[in-house]
Amino acid sequence: MGNRLIFLLFVSAFLFSCSNTEKKENSDKINVLSTTGMIYDIALNVGGEKVNAQYLMGPGVDPHLYKATQNDLSKMREAEIIFYNGLHLEGKMQETLEKISNSKPVIPVSSGIKKSLLKESEDFGGVYDPHIWFDVSLWKQAVIIVTNTLIKSDEENKEYYLNNSKDYLSALSALDAWVKESIATIPEQQRVMITAHDAFGYFGDAYNIEVRGLQGISTRSEPGIRDISRLTEYITENDIKAVFVESSVSEKSLRAVVEGCREKGHNVQIGGTLFSDAMGAAGTPEGTYEGMVRHNVNTIVNSLK
Ligand SMILES: [Zn+2]
Repeated sequence: MGNRLIFLLFVSAFLFSCSNTEKKENSDKINVLSTTGMIYDIALNVGGEKVNAQYLMGPGVDPHLYKATQNDLSKMREAEIIFYNGLHLEGKMQETLEKISNSKPVIPVSSGIKKSLLKESEDFGGVYDPHIWFDVSLWKQAVIIVTNTLIKSDEENKEYYLNNSKDYLSALSALDAWVKESIATIPEQQRVMITAHDAFGYFGDAYNIEVRGLQGISTRSEPGIRDISRLTEYITENDIKAVFVESSVSEKSLRAVVEGCREKGHNVQIGGTLFSDAMGAAGTPEGTYEGMVRHNVNTIVNSLK
């Protein structure tokens, strides 16, 4: 009996000390703030239990138009590291990000990508297309930037970050191969995807599918009547079966295109909603980078095949 009591005391003391260290470790976590969910997914997976990962732009949020709120500014002040996409994706936050970069690492995850791998946009001379996460293989460069930044701030846990990074990168390699295989099942003459804005340029290049957006690479200006009628003509002439709305862009103008096609006697369907510039809700499969990519590809393949 006595022994048993001592044993229990010992166990509870042990548990108590464990939860105590856990608490201590909690406050030791690095506060890592990302702008988009896609970047957050990297920080969360590579940083694991060593970081407290957060992000600013939730489901349905359009990063091209997003302005930092008062709450965001205080999150940015509390953060120890800030990751953002760069290439003007966060068009209205650029100044704030630059200002805050004087006091802490504020890293654009696009900065490690060779210029030769970036797509120049036809819309603006010299401006690169920021939608780099759509080429899963290219997005691995962002993982490397995040990994190196975490190691630089927390050298002690280098091995931990490197291991997580390796796992995440190999998951992305498998995902990349799956996207290639899936898109290749769409007959070649049907491999055209039409979306609300030109977010899928990298996707089209990487996975061999033609891509057309109603709007340019940014959503800053509303599409005009000319854009709508041009796209209507293109869809009708090429007998395209489906167009796709985006979770972070208003579908009003794309609906006008669908109507326009029907008036011309061509019945084009809304093929579904794609997650373009923002992930889905937390706790759903689309609330992760991999889930978002898989959802998009399944939606595209099911509608165009
Ligand atoms: Zn976009």
